[in-house]
Amino acid sequence: MADRRRLLVIRDRLRKAYGRPEPRPHGAPVDELVLTVLSQNTNDRNRDVAYHRLRDRFASWAEAREGAPAEIEEAIRPGGLAPTKSVRIWRILDALGDDDLRWLADAPVEEARDFLCTLPGVGRKTAACVLLFSYGLHDVPVDTHVHRVGVRLGLFGEKESLERCHDGLNRLTRPEDGHEVHIALLRHGRRTCTARAPRCSECALVSLCPFGRARI
Ligand code: SF4
Repeated sequence: MADRRRLLVIRDRLRKAYGRPEPRPHGAPVDELVLTVLSQNTNDRNRDVAYHRLRDRFASWAEAREGAPAEIEEAIRPGGLAPTKSVRIWRILDALGDDDLRWLADAPVEEARDFLCTLPGVGRKTAACVLLFSYGLHDVPVDTHVHRVGVRLGLFGEKESLERCHDGLNRLTRPEDGHEVHIALLRHGRRTCTARAPRCSECALVSLCPFGRARI
């Protein structure tokens, strides 16, 4: 089956299993950058607690930038790895200057991505999260769940770089379905195709999955 057609079959089966997510671009790219740093090595709950404490502590991102990383660290402590994440967040805010990233919405995706990837510690996944979730642009994040599920399904080669996985998933998707494909693979990775114990015998994708067929 051609790759694009196969991806659509995967998408449709996951839609039946988990529902169809609605894209709701929020137009807040700096928030998204900070959230992606806070989400590293923790769960969504701790990430959100840290984020809300940070927003309560500072009236604006400009105020956070004018403060010291230690103040950010104190605010985000419940999210884990606060010493590292606080410096990362401060360095991004410092590099951004006036925080005005609205131009990203109208720029060619490659240009917007290249700019984001010049920010300290920002790579393809974070850049794609910012473009997709802030403005609904066609850049599909390959996070740890999407990558694991994609490798097992044969969408990505096991040894392919993350850069190439991003390029590959962008090629397979279209602007109208990139968000759904990302969320569907993410949900599948969290709920069924988990890292340690994938539930292949009850998986809607098993007939399409070389890894799963070899296990059952
Ligand atoms: S069959 Fe198994 S390995 Fe393949 S997608 Fe489903 S849970 Fe993951």
